[in-house]
Amino acid sequence: MVPTIPAKSASAKTATPDAVRPHTGESLLALKRRAGKINRQLAKAYPYAHAELDFRNAFELVVATVLSAQTTDVRVNQTTPALFARYPDARALAEANVAELETMIQPTGFFRAKTRSLISLATRIVDEYDGVVPGRLDDLVTLAGVGRKTANVVLGNAFGIPGITVDTHFIRLAQRFGWTESKDPVRIEADVGGLIPKAEWTMLSHRVVFHGRRVCHARKPACGACPVATLCPSYGEGETDPVKAKKLLKYELAPGNEDLLARMLGDVSRAAEYRREAQLLARQGVSSGPEPGPAAPGTDLP
Ligand code: SF4
Repeated sequence: MVPTIPAKSASAKTATPDAVRPHTGESLLALKRRAGKINRQLAKAYPYAHAELDFRNAFELVVATVLSAQTTDVRVNQTTPALFARYPDARALAEANVAELETMIQPTGFFRAKTRSLISLATRIVDEYDGVVPGRLDDLVTLAGVGRKTANVVLGNAFGIPGITVDTHFIRLAQRFGWTESKDPVRIEADVGGLIPKAEWTMLSHRVVFHGRRVCHARKPACGACPVATLCPSYGEGETDPVKAKKLLKYELAPGNEDLLARMLGDVSRAAEYRREAQLLARQGVSSGPEPGPAAPGTDLP
């Protein structure tokens, strides 16, 4: 596959709306159009993309997201069923025994800091918000262990308020797509927010993370098997030979998992169930990759 846009360059010096973008050589309009095409193409490739943390309400999601710092979503999903059975709401968690809570969440790592955050945030939710997780970003970021990333996860997935979740995968892919030149998550959120309609923000975040975990890996992106290769200025950063690139794909896209992929594409409503199957296969070494990497660079960890 050959990309249809120029590779990244550093030619222009201005940044007015009609100016050529220094990093991709495109006008803002062209960049917006290309970003929209990438989003639509990713939607076709991953119609089953969704939040990979298991939760039933805003309280569970905020707890699970705090736990996800510096660990995998798989690990968090293994830990939270017992945790939520023991502490079903903010009032119960606010009164948790520290040693008991530390033991329960120990598998997620940084368990002492996370225990402090969880008890503190639960106490604040009880004291300031009558036990109900607030649905505003400005309130959420005042909770211990909750930064913009976690707040946007909660807003987008528990409250239906569009949010861009800038985690380690999103940062890498936004840069490779030429959507931003920044390394600052807040700036990246603003840059991408200016390219993609707000209603798409939450699903865009899921799609980009899915793509990062399966195809556009940090060290060996599978460019030769990438559904957005013709739209990506970083095409060629990874393996371009289609046969070799296919071997780099992970989870349901990995060679040998075609039946699983067909089922995920055919029954999107059961995608979470199938995803667990894919993760189990991955852990057993059937697919070509390890568990998904940490959901975030840990910036929300206290
Ligand atoms: S895999 Fe290659 S072509 Fe695809 S998005 Fe990543 S860098 Fe671009």
